[in-house]
Amino acid sequence: MELEKLEQLVRQVMSEMNVGSSANVADAGVFADMETAISQAAAAQRTVANLSMADREKIVGNIRKKTIENAEKFAQMGVSETGMGNVPHKIAKHQLVANKTPGTEDITTTAFSGDRGLTLIERGPFGVIGAITPCTNPSETVICNTIGMLAAGNTVVFNPHPAAVETSNFAVRMLNQASVEVGGPENIAVSTLNPTIESSGILFKHPSVQLLAITGGPGVVTAALKSGKRAIGAGAGNPPVLVDETADIKQAAIDIINGATFDNNLPCIAEKEVVAVAKIADELTYYMERNGCYKASVSDVDKIVATVLDLKDGRYSLSRNCVGKSAAELLRMSGISADKDVRCIIFDGDCEHILVKEEMMMPILGIVRVRDVDEGIRIATALEHGYRHSAHMHSKNVDNLTRFGKAVDTAIFVKNAPSYAALGFGGEGFCSFTIASRTGEGLTSASTFTKSRRCVMSDSLCIR
Ligand code: NAD
Repeated sequence: MELEKLEQLVRQVMSEMNVGSSANVADAGVFADMETAISQAAAAQRTVANLSMADREKIVGNIRKKTIENAEKFAQMGVSETGMGNVPHKIAKHQLVANKTPGTEDITTTAFSGDRGLTLIERGPFGVIGAITPCTNPSETVICNTIGMLAAGNTVVFNPHPAAVETSNFAVRMLNQASVEVGGPENIAVSTLNPTIESSGILFKHPSVQLLAITGGPGVVTAALKSGKRAIGAGAGNPPVLVDETADIKQAAIDIINGATFDNNLPCIAEKEVVAVAKIADELTYYMERNGCYKASVSDVDKIVATVLDLKDGRYSLSRNCVGKSAAELLRMSGISADKDVRCIIFDGDCEHILVKEEMMMPILGIVRVRDVDEGIRIATALEHGYRHSAHMHSKNVDNLTRFGKAVDTAIFVKNAPSYAALGFGGEGFCSFTIASRTGEGLTSASTFTKSRRCVMSDSLCIR
């Protein structure tokens, strides 16, 4: 990482925003240690809990405005600090978070009224939420989580990914500035300067933290679920996209490549491998090539495997400096000459191929040919590994779509569109960057971060 360049960018952006100056928000929510961060979030939560819904919404409105104003800066910082993804798509992700993350309107009341009176089920805050965020969507997740958690009356303590700490903490500062600017409290969201596994351990065990919201790979979700606290677990995926012979093949190729190349395949929902019925596999490949794909030969694939994976003690792991890189860059790193505008690498592979089985988070799509849709459903379901995260399908056959949806049983199932339609980007519905695949809440929103309260008035207030 070009540290100097990044520090210069942070200084420039902070001075432009006037964030962190003593005239402004004193520490802007970023503290030297986790204990202080938690105690400040707990103090702020006592104020937030007493804010009216209108006041919470005012803060949320200003967060949306400032996120849009700073979308390009966040995108540049994210790419510069992590070396992953691309600026135009990260701008789009921040705009999506700002525009489509639900606010206070998501908190609703259920009423039962009858002969014996009136009973309300109201949604109240948990209090202080401990959140872990990934390096793949760092500021997007920090902002998205805070909008929902604050709308529900909570404050949040982040232990951001160490590889994206500057970008994540810049988001924390912006969130507090947004609150203070409209008369809200400081420390609606807090973080530490040096997040580590140890500081996440403090968060997981702290008595002032009532709920955990974990966005990341399997290791951190499992650690949180073992903590003894209630945890919302948004874990890993390996989304297959199944294409049957009834699909609009040309459109399927366009949609799959748009989804798989979005932010260089970083989103956990993005198409990670293709399962295609043999009858249409050549046609699908043809249209993919027409849409900027490089069809890798067997020897190319060997070179790519040697580049993007590290082999140690007989086990493969992702080469971290390849995650989130563009297809053109991955080809260059692999010593394969190709057009610089290549968008995605495709290859024919079987379902045991390492690049097909692993969640690569790179624009590389293996195409697994299957006899028919039945075999496709079986193989695509196996490739999802039971994560219950995301799966996609292109088909005009409602029965086939239904059968795959039931078999794969994922939190997200997109039909006949790019995967990002699931986030409300070219599809209906709200946006979330924390998809609770592992614990079953699905796309989280403000109401996910509330607890239920039953409020009963007996034999009165029913005036029917
Ligand atoms: P990661 O798991 O490497 O890191 C996430 C965070 O967890 C980091 O802060 C890391 O330091 C911390 N961590 C890791 N192991 C830990 C442990 N045992 N105890 C405590 N903390 C620990 O994830 P990443 O590389 O930043 O993100 C990519 C992964 O996250 C992919 O698997 C992706 O599918 C998943 N993801 C899921 C969602 C979702 O909504 N379900 C969203 C984004 C990313």
